Amino acid sequence: MRNNLMYINGEWVGKDLEKLEVVNPANGQVVGTVPIGGEAEANEAIDSAHEAFQTWSQTTAYERATYLKRLNDLILKNQEELAQVMTIEMGKPIKESRGEAASSATYIEWFAEEGKRIYGETVPSHIANKRMQVWKKPVGVVAAITPWNFPAAMLTRKMGPALAAGCTIVIKPSGESPLTAVKLVELCEEAGFPKGVVNLVTGSSSKIGKAMMENDKVRKVTFTGSTEVGKLLIRQSADQVKRLSMELGGHAPIIVLDDANVETAVKGAIASKFRNAGQTCVCGNRIYVQSGIHDEFVEKFTAAVKQLKIGDGINDEVDIGPLINQSSVDKVSRHVEDAVSKGASLLTGGKELTDENGTFYTPTVISGVDPSMIIMQEETFGPVAPIQKIETIEEAIQLANDTEYGLAAYVFTESVSKGTLLIEKLNFGIVGWNDGTPSAAQVPFGGMKESGLGREGGHEGLEAFLETQYVAIGMD
Ligand code: NAP
Repeated sequence: MRNNLMYINGEWVGKDLEKLEVVNPANGQVVGTVPIGGEAEANEAIDSAHEAFQTWSQTTAYERATYLKRLNDLILKNQEELAQVMTIEMGKPIKESRGEAASSATYIEWFAEEGKRIYGETVPSHIANKRMQVWKKPVGVVAAITPWNFPAAMLTRKMGPALAAGCTIVIKPSGESPLTAVKLVELCEEAGFPKGVVNLVTGSSSKIGKAMMENDKVRKVTFTGSTEVGKLLIRQSADQVKRLSMELGGHAPIIVLDDANVETAVKGAIASKFRNAGQTCVCGNRIYVQSGIHDEFVEKFTAAVKQLKIGDGINDEVDIGPLINQSSVDKVSRHVEDAVSKGASLLTGGKELTDENGTFYTPTVISGVDPSMIIMQEETFGPVAPIQKIETIEEAIQLANDTEYGLAAYVFTESVSKGTLLIEKLNFGIVGWNDGTPSAAQVPFGGMKESGLGREGGHEGLEAFLETQYVAIGMD
């Protein structure tokens, strides 16, 4: 069992505080604890980040890159341990955890380099004795709040650009999976970041969150999580007009047109839908298949889903691990029961595994769904694929866009013109075209509508941690 502490101003603290138990959802066992910090610890961490900002922001991008590259190397060196921690604390299959550990390093490595390309601008003046320049400055102390489902990558996707820009950071990981964050911060310590540059607080999310929103030393809030909590933070941060990046919920459509390569579509839909047992914000949540290919797709897709192996993710051969907790299982069951009660056909799965100590739900396919069913309206966050038959591209566009969410969408077609015209009409921040796993460090990730504000990754992800300062220079 790992007993971990908080990290404030270069010290591991919180030994005497009450502890939060972290439970392995595959077997119900306690795998570690973290201190239950609150407002006092959050404010202490913010003070330390504020103090460190005075010097860290004055370092060169080249110096900051040296620290970040050291961290990148350490993450890769510790890939297996990070993967093990992730799997035991939140259930992700170990092969996916290894992938996440490696991809979390790419956010550190890529932003280490991108930090060297924070260019300002010289703008031609309309007055002879005046010069016009645009400068870029780090925004200040960053509060980073992360979800349980990608405990490493969501953290480094914030930490990489924040530190590269010259900001300092206070991290608040989810209480469901804080141990990965502790391990990553241990690696930051080993990489030698000066004290106060990286801080970690664990515990009461509402108290820590409120302190972060009320402390005027925090100039930027970067949050990944549900739309509901995102809206709360937007409201709480409004009084101080803090800079915000919000990566929120999704309800991704997968559209398969008649001319799709069915093998590509099945492979892409499986990758998108069943990664992390369906618990990702970009998971396909509803599948629309054109009538000409519908039956073949459903047959091949269902056959592929039946091959997925469910179990404790610590075993190498497992494809589908547990859901994070019982309330997730209850939500998934509710979505399936509602669809079936309204006439959908259950093709495989549809069962909670009650013979396990963990919180499992079998990989499920249902066909004959329609928009009246909850599953076609809400984020399911579980291993259930509902399939609706459609006739036209216009119908696909109308159904796909009929949601308050706008994070990811997937399109499967071999036609360049149909794909282009379709995607032009989709209101989603990320589109995978014949691709079920589009995200990467060097490209912008984020949602339209209620899926969020701003982008992470790519040069946009760095811009999010910078202020623009326009300087007019009189030459008299
Ligand atoms: P969540 O319940 O919104 O929690 C996210 C984070 O916010 C956690 O650290 C949580 O801490 C914290 N939190 C909860 N209540 C808070 C409050 N009142 N004040 C401050 N912080 C608070 O979301 P989740 O269940 O962890 O993650 C799943 C959601 O995240 C899904 O909706 C998914 O789509 C979304 N997501 C989005 C992206 C993206 O990039 N757009 C990526 C991954 C996930 P505790 O857990 O300790 O309460």
